[in-house]
Amino acid sequence: MRGIVACAVSVAAIPSDIFSNQTVRREKRGDVPAEGSADEIVVQFQSNHFSQLPESKSQREAKNRVLLHILPYMALSTPYIDLHTHRHRQDPEVRSVIALSMEQTLFHPEFPRFCSAGRHPWHAATPWTEEQGGMLEDALLREECIAVGEIGLDRVKGPDLGLQRSVLIEQLDLAAARDVPVILHCVRAHADLLQLRKMRGDTNPWIIHGFTGHGELAEQLLRMGFMLSFGEALLSTGAKVREALTHVPTDRMFFETDEGSTAIQVIYRTAADVLGVSQSRLRSIMQENFIRSFGVEA
Ligand SMILES: [Zn+2]
Repeated sequence: MRGIVACAVSVAAIPSDIFSNQTVRREKRGDVPAEGSADEIVVQFQSNHFSQLPESKSQREAKNRVLLHILPYMALSTPYIDLHTHRHRQDPEVRSVIALSMEQTLFHPEFPRFCSAGRHPWHAATPWTEEQGGMLEDALLREECIAVGEIGLDRVKGPDLGLQRSVLIEQLDLAAARDVPVILHCVRAHADLLQLRKMRGDTNPWIIHGFTGHGELAEQLLRMGFMLSFGEALLSTGAKVREALTHVPTDRMFFETDEGSTAIQVIYRTAADVLGVSQSRLRSIMQENFIRSFGVEA
């Protein structure tokens, strides 16, 4: 950064110990958009609004210089997103979407920072009632509750598929009406879900969690607008799911721990190796996917 006047910037998203000896610099005042402090620029960038700022050529060049400086620090501070888990882990590096059962939504005095709520297909033996709908609606009124899930279909375990289906549809209706994503449990029922999505024409994100299928199935689901979340299955070498991962555009994937004991960091590391991208890049992409799908920053 030859001949550039230093201009120290305090950026909330950057750990201060990393930032103390580093400075984001700019050539002269006014090179960056006048209405944005560096703090705001980072926020705008993270919220994908940065590109909407009016730009002249010199502003654009200045913006690129600022971004090149701050991106490595932003990546360091970007959390790992665990899209679906039932465990409450205390890890400052991780943001988890904790799956709550309908009963848990009633008895949780405080919701986790991010959670989903719904009736699992294994518990679909009793019919869905108006009261259940009210409980789910109440849960979704809380800002922490960002998705309906886990809900879905299971052809191996659980009650009759017809019962599962009717409970699922009630919850899909609610998610569609509120335009929130759904997190789906699916065991040997991908054809059913593909048909449902096609028939209903819903446009809210449908994310299949714990995907373990092959590449061809992944592509079929992607064509119908599904997103796929990958977990511990990625760790087995030679697994077909590793190959499937390479069929999925990075803007359509998530990662998760579900009920497993593997740290999400290990799953990211494996996925980054399979995809041939850096872990920090993968974290940034997942953050973008999260913002795009859930409308909040992790
Ligand atoms: Zn689960």
